[in-house]
Amino acid sequence: MKLLDGKVLSAQVEEELKVRVDAMRAKGNIPGLEVILVGDDPASQLYVGNKEKACNRLGVFSKTVRMPENTTQKELEKEIARANADPAIHGLLVQMPLPKHLDSARALELILPEKDADGFHNVNTGKLLRGEPAAVACTPRGVMYMLKSAGIEIAGKDAVVVGRSNIVGKPMAILLMHANATVTICHSRTKDLAAHTRRADILVAAIGKPKFITADMVKDGAVVIDVGMNRVDGKFCGDVDFENVKEKASYITPVPGGVGRMTIAMLMTNTVDAAEKVFG
Ligand code: NDP
Repeated sequence: MKLLDGKVLSAQVEEELKVRVDAMRAKGNIPGLEVILVGDDPASQLYVGNKEKACNRLGVFSKTVRMPENTTQKELEKEIARANADPAIHGLLVQMPLPKHLDSARALELILPEKDADGFHNVNTGKLLRGEPAAVACTPRGVMYMLKSAGIEIAGKDAVVVGRSNIVGKPMAILLMHANATVTICHSRTKDLAAHTRRADILVAAIGKPKFITADMVKDGAVVIDVGMNRVDGKFCGDVDFENVKEKASYITPVPGGVGRMTIAMLMTNTVDAAEKVFG
């Protein structure tokens, strides 16, 4: 079993990005990322803090706009419009989840597609579906980076993605399909899930249930990617029963220290890509 180490790989991504950021800065051009955070969800606070740290490591201008829980839709939309028009900002994201009274889908659609750092805008998801260049959702983009950097063959393989969310499962399945895998998408209504997962050469778990994928659901020699991020007794664990599945897998991602690290690295990549398009 080989570990797909998100710490090592995300550091590699950052090293590559630093060269690109330094080249822009040498010409007086500074890439910028703005995060709009509404409310005080503790997990969101943590993610936003990590995004700020990544910007600082790379020399990317970081702006976080913190808005109170009782922010109105109009106020949020005004802030998005301001950031869209701000030439210092190349990547923009609204941290999800938003408080229940706000319309997330509408907020995402108001972000300029060319500043859409998360790759959630309909224009970008449409382009992804068609195989055109686009800002791609960070977590699936990070998974593809992990597979490719380990030299794992994807073409012709059976890939099974468990989870069909707009932010992970669906874009993950599309990227694997574009890389010529034969892709099965499973979800909560799938009959006999294990029969599908046992066929997977590449198995991606994006479910949100701790240790849900057990060793008996995994084929010998499979590549197992654990997107899950669950907090159990104050500790993070994935959707895969790592200790037992690792005995069968050829490659596996740990949690923490796996896919999560790549997500932030890919957010920075989307921001740097967007800035390079502006600065030329
Ligand atoms: P969602 O809750 O949006 O989606 C979960 C998916 O899992 C749904 O499609 C659901 O099916 C499916 N599912 C739920 N129960 C079962 C079941 N019993 N059998 C088969 N499928 C099932 O979650 P996300 O996609 O947003 O996130 C998934 C996990 O990844 C979470 O743990 C989240 O915290 C983590 N995550 C980690 C990131 C990272 O950077 N590492 C980034 C984003 C998410 P259905 O559609 O039928 O309801």
